[in-house]
Amino acid sequence: MLEQVKRIILVLSGKGGVGKSTVSTQLALTLREKGYKIGLLDVDLCGPSVPYLLNLEGQNIHQGNDGWIPVYLDNEQKLGVMSIGFLLNSRNDAVVWRGPKKTSMIKQFLEDVCWQELDFLIIDTPPGTSDEHITVMENLRQIPHCSAIIVTTPQQVAIEDVRKEITFCRKTGIPIMGIIENMSGYECPVCSECTNIFSSGGGKSLAEISKIPFLGSLPIDPRVGKLAGRGVAAIKELPDSKTSQVFNELVTQL
Ligand code: ADP
Repeated sequence: MLEQVKRIILVLSGKGGVGKSTVSTQLALTLREKGYKIGLLDVDLCGPSVPYLLNLEGQNIHQGNDGWIPVYLDNEQKLGVMSIGFLLNSRNDAVVWRGPKKTSMIKQFLEDVCWQELDFLIIDTPPGTSDEHITVMENLRQIPHCSAIIVTTPQQVAIEDVRKEITFCRKTGIPIMGIIENMSGYECPVCSECTNIFSSGGGKSLAEISKIPFLGSLPIDPRVGKLAGRGVAAIKELPDSKTSQVFNELVTQL
């Protein structure tokens, strides 16, 4: 039930482990801090990490009269979450489904969740361009105000896969809001000097070549790794960090 959703943001990545779920959750938390009403839909059926990142593991989805009720992070119900993770017995359970079953689960996620009125629905997708993406795109094509953020790390091997994401978005007609480069150097917490552990700038130059906005570089920040499990408090753990600056800047552009 997406009729009451004002804007949809898909978060995509070419590879797993580049920080796509971290970006999805940080973006959701930043928007919530700014007073918006947010839905976070995790359609990464094979690796749903949003419940873990937001300290919501073990919560149950309830069936209301009109559909599934999301799990809310806060009493004010400003951030609702839906994930296959809530339907699994434990984090170690594997979803071993063929395409049609995955497709029908994603359709249910898109059609049967009672989101109420939302300013933004953020959709955390699996890495790559798979059946899940095609199903999401097919269902969102008619929805106005839908766009994508692509997350990458700076290495060439990750950048190559981002090109495929760009082609996929262009073929399916989803406007690309921009690229975020994550794990872009390590900023020393003592002296703030940045060391480029991997190569750097790959995301920015790809954005320039592809004529896509570059939305910012997030450094490797050990505090980001520790945010998992802190839930709504996580956003307060990174005051004045480069990470929070990038997200604060990003939400002003939405
Ligand atoms: P993906 O969704 O792309 O698979 P995740 O968001 O789950 O990736 O991130 C993978 C791991 O890397 C997580 O443990 C996360 O906490 C960590 N991580 C992501 N971005 C950063 C960062 N900028 N600094 C430190 N750790 C990070």
